[in-house]
Amino acid sequence: MSEAFDALVVGAGISGLYQTYRLRKAGFSVRAIEAAPDVGGTWYWNAYPGCRVDSPANIYQYWFSQELLDDWNWSERFPAQPEIKSYLQHVATRFDLYRSIELETRVQSAQWLADEGCWRVITDTGKTYTARYLVSCVGLLSTPKMLSFPDQQSFKGQVYHTARWPQHPVDLKGQRVGVIGNGATGIQVIQTLAPEVSKLTVFQRTPQYAVRMKNYKVDEQTMSAWRADYPEVSRLVHTTFGGFTWDPAEEGHAATLTPDQRREVYEDCWADGSLKMFVGTFPETLVDPEMNAELTEFVRDKIRAQINDPALADKLIPSSHGYGLKRVPLENGYYEAFNRANVELVDVSASPIEGFYDQGLRVGGMDYPLDVLIMATGFDAGTGTLARMGVQGRGGLSLSELWGRDIRTTLGLQVHGFPNLFLIGGPLSPSAAFCNVQTCVQQQIGWVTDAITHLRESGHRTMEPTFEREEEWVQHHDEVANATLMVTVDSWYTGANIEGKQRRLLSYIGGAHVYRELCEEIQANGYPGFQLT
Ligand code: NAP
Repeated sequence: MSEAFDALVVGAGISGLYQTYRLRKAGFSVRAIEAAPDVGGTWYWNAYPGCRVDSPANIYQYWFSQELLDDWNWSERFPAQPEIKSYLQHVATRFDLYRSIELETRVQSAQWLADEGCWRVITDTGKTYTARYLVSCVGLLSTPKMLSFPDQQSFKGQVYHTARWPQHPVDLKGQRVGVIGNGATGIQVIQTLAPEVSKLTVFQRTPQYAVRMKNYKVDEQTMSAWRADYPEVSRLVHTTFGGFTWDPAEEGHAATLTPDQRREVYEDCWADGSLKMFVGTFPETLVDPEMNAELTEFVRDKIRAQINDPALADKLIPSSHGYGLKRVPLENGYYEAFNRANVELVDVSASPIEGFYDQGLRVGGMDYPLDVLIMATGFDAGTGTLARMGVQGRGGLSLSELWGRDIRTTLGLQVHGFPNLFLIGGPLSPSAAFCNVQTCVQQQIGWVTDAITHLRESGHRTMEPTFEREEEWVQHHDEVANATLMVTVDSWYTGANIEGKQRRLLSYIGGAHVYRELCEEIQANGYPGFQLT
């Protein structure tokens, strides 16, 4: 028995909720399929200690409903995970979305049936669905990178991955805790747990540059001021490079300034205590090694000033890559945590982790006793979840095999060979990493909804990019990407964190504003480069 819908949406996080809302509003029958027991996606799963958003809340929100903007109050500039989860649950309730969502259900396979002109989706609960359109809203960072070490079964303590953190409180007070990973996630865990636990052992492979977050409480007065500004904020986020309210300086401007004047710009961005320090300085810092070195030195000085022991500072400050060439995390006491007597840094780059023993972890012949080990080891980003979903397009073409060889899409929105499959946050689009997620997924969802509506209104059944159009986009993407220094650095941005993954910059870095204009042009011109049948 299979249920039929016009559209199936996979995922009920930020994008899945809004995609479901938009398609339903446009008059399509929709079912969203979500693996978790509740909505929220990333903000459901990442319930680890210290998790909070690093985009300001007045930017990281939906813009589609004035009522929602009027009645939702934020409590902090950078709210913690429970608040963002509550916001998304509130949206699901307020817009009556739960009735369209199948929770605790995971897609096992999705197959394009050419004769019927629809997708057949089979889930792990044994249900089968058919739908003309399949929209992937599976999230960019949703398949955790799990590590396994020898003798894990002998370990008597607990092991957690941050992205599969229990939904119930885990009391770590007074415990001996180890953390592997010091990306944005590990940093939040480390700075939060350091004052709570009896001993914190950080197993660091590569040091990180992080920027001090300037968080503040949002009282009634600030909330009113934010609200009065919403029309301007919503205009700005859709017209800037990274979907925020700030932009980098114009190209060439840096060269007209003295080093002291450039330093003032860096100071100004640093003082904002936000990702303005990542995307708001000079574009040349991402392409010109000298400019990158100048900014890197500025950041190194800021970090050094927070660490008491110079030898420890040398270990905590990266030397193998420049600032801003990986995703920059925001921190609130991360480096200072290492000034504490109960926090120990263990370098696992020279002597990698050997494995577990019954009481803890063994590195370089040394035993580190632990009650709990936390893996903050990241994700198989961008492609990981969709590639595991058993997606088969025209003629049985496997998405996982295709992306195993060559991660390619057309504007991150569709893939040649997969008719009527639409991607939100897909690889090679700005929303895959280089745009405030809320801004860019809303733009893509608007485009996809309009495209599907166009198909209905023009009497077409399918939409698929041509191979030539896709090739053109991939080449353009690579050209823009390869002009940056980012491609020289190992990170999830380049796929280097996953063994065997193709090395290609995951996200389009030509600018969210440029991308939006291109999408609008394609729509206005009747979808050239896309075959409608
Ligand atoms: P990540 O940036 O990929 O960091 C993973 C960490 O695990 C790195 O320190 C990595 O070290 C380490 N690691 C992985 N495998 C290892 C191994 N075998 N041995 C030792 N160390 C290992 O992942 P993440 O911190 O979860 O962050 C991913 C992204 O999520 C962020 O960049 C950000 O976009 C997003 N995020 C956002 C927020 C927020 O909004 N506040 C919070 C958390 C995450 P190496 O560097 O040596 O590989």
